[in-house]
Amino acid sequence: MTKNSNITNSRQSKIACPTCQKQIIWSPENRFRPFCSERCKLIDLGEWAAGTYAIPQKHSEEDEVFSSMIEETQDSSML
Ligand SMILES: [Zn+2]
Repeated sequence: MTKNSNITNSRQSKIACPTCQKQIIWSPENRFRPFCSERCKLIDLGEWAAGTYAIPQKHSEEDEVFSSMIEETQDSSML
């Protein structure tokens, strides 16, 4: 066994998520960078947009999908 390691940790740079300050690895695979997750990205966007206009809440969007599903069911039963 040789001591030739393939560890590439030195090439990974860590940053702190602007929203929650969580340490994340900056990599091309992280499509939410510089945020740790989509949630933190949306929170940050919501904060700068809060003063100008309101962003639709996701839960109301889901409610609309549910309502249209119910309507579709009713329509097909009428046919
Ligand atoms: Zn975060």
